[in-house]
Amino acid sequence: MKIPFNWPHMTGKELYNIAESHFNGRLAGDGPFTKKCHDWLEVNGHTHRALLTNSCTASLEMSALLLDVKAGDEIIMPSYTFVSTANAFVLRGATPVFVDIRQDTLNLDETKIERAITNKTRAIVPVHYAGVGCEMDSILDTAGHYGLSVIEDAAQGLMATYKGKPLGSLGKLGAFSFHETKNIISGEGGALFVNDQALAEKAEIIREKGTNRSQFFRGEVDKYTWQEVGSSYLPGELIAAFLWAQLEDAEKITEARLRSWDYYHSLLADAESQGYLNRPIIPSECGHNAHLYYVILPEHIDRNRILFKMKTAGIGAVFHYVPLHSSPAGKKYGRVSGELRNTEVLSKQLIRLPLWVGLSKEQQETVVQVLLDALRSNINV
Ligand SMILES: *Cc1c(COP(=O)(O)O)cnc(C)c1O
Repeated sequence: MKIPFNWPHMTGKELYNIAESHFNGRLAGDGPFTKKCHDWLEVNGHTHRALLTNSCTASLEMSALLLDVKAGDEIIMPSYTFVSTANAFVLRGATPVFVDIRQDTLNLDETKIERAITNKTRAIVPVHYAGVGCEMDSILDTAGHYGLSVIEDAAQGLMATYKGKPLGSLGKLGAFSFHETKNIISGEGGALFVNDQALAEKAEIIREKGTNRSQFFRGEVDKYTWQEVGSSYLPGELIAAFLWAQLEDAEKITEARLRSWDYYHSLLADAESQGYLNRPIIPSECGHNAHLYYVILPEHIDRNRILFKMKTAGIGAVFHYVPLHSSPAGKKYGRVSGELRNTEVLSKQLIRLPLWVGLSKEQQETVVQVLLDALRSNINV
């Protein structure tokens, strides 16, 4: 691949931090680097309690345990998302209820949530696709009216805002990912934001194998014991050491990504007005983090042919989500609410373009040239 889809950015300080943990003999979780990461996330993420986890998947699983999700409960979410959004709840025996997405942001359509609610509904899981916030005011209103919890899948949302507030800080809980493909990375890794103070202690317990070990280490209790159903959801210090270098540069990384995002957006303006494609739409209340740059092709275009042509030209462009309701496990464990027309059409027509720190303007021009050539020759056939 001449221009890969993703190239993980490293600040250069990761190895120094890891060496420090190494020399100090601090390898297990919740050491000094974890503490630095927690403090940074709490200050910059406006959350009551931030906890590092092994992945966003782990954060979502913790959320299901925290809210006591049980067999038969229903959890409202988009079908257009990553499998972990649903898996975390299916693991507890709950049913994902799939609702359609909006045409502009590809986020959960807040106007279609109410009709999906039954007396079994427990929670709503909005997914902030591409680091663009869902319509949270409306979602929180609906949730409040029906007594439901809101868990934000903010896997892609670090450093992005809705009405000036950081994504992940708006619901009861927020789940983040530091997977290599996200903006801020530690290979694998994640965080859980506990915005509801009443859940903070239980979150610590679930994360520490169901024990009150965190309280023991703070000297709040004289022994630690098994308190709740839990698991091992905390990462070791080497991961936190790596992540700390990234968090220190989070602003610079986001600015660099935004510059590339804006450049694609200007390069593709004419193609949009000529009807070759649609560019992403960012609502004015959303401050996004340039997690993805995608285009939506017209319905009559065979997206996979375009992807094949781009791949042949050495460009790492990729599609995004096979909708969960159409997947084998989604059919087995989930339920659909209403029609999912936007989900079905948009997921077939979307292409994500290469976007990473260090991608040059010339490379971006090549990507756009190859994409437009493929579209023009396709239309002329
Ligand atoms: C990446 C991603 C996840 C999973 O994150 P991991 O850290 O790999 O577990 C979950 N949900 C969404 C929307 C994602 O983009």
